[in-house]
Amino acid sequence: MKTPATALPKLSPKAGNASAVQAAGACVCGAVRLEIDVPAVWAWHDHSARSRHAQGAAYATYVGSWKSRLRILQGAEHLTRFEDPQAGTARSFCARCGTPMLYERAHSPKMVNIPRAVFSERTGREPRYHLNLAEQADWTWAGEALAPLKGYPGVMRERPRKKTRSAPLDPMFEP
Ligand SMILES: [Zn+2]
Repeated sequence: MKTPATALPKLSPKAGNASAVQAAGACVCGAVRLEIDVPAVWAWHDHSARSRHAQGAAYATYVGSWKSRLRILQGAEHLTRFEDPQAGTARSFCARCGTPMLYERAHSPKMVNIPRAVFSERTGREPRYHLNLAEQADWTWAGEALAPLKGYPGVMRERPRKKTRSAPLDPMFEP
């Protein structure tokens, strides 16, 4: 029986290195698709100010992979690369939708870090490591107790940290 062409895996020059299991990921618009061989090397939370800024998030969670085990399956031409010589890093993102896709660091040139959030599948590593905690933003939610906000289903509120007086509601929630 002839296999339909659509069922064939997309091959890349490095396909010979592929392990039996891959984890696939994509940017928000779907133009860029990639995969890594599973398991990844490690996974970690990066609390550095630079990653926070670049990702637009309290902290970034990355999956580290050997570069030789990463394949860009589609849309490599949409990846825009920003090199920061001062930090010794290079960040690549989808130029169509802005999703951060790759983060390379000069001191580990054979590794590439990929935001955990771009993967739709398990990568074989739990993010158990925290780096650059000294740079953690003081507004990062660290699991403090939350309580439901009355009148706003689905909204939880962190209790005020200082007990001297209760913090006013943010304007968004004022009646
Ligand atoms: Zn995109």
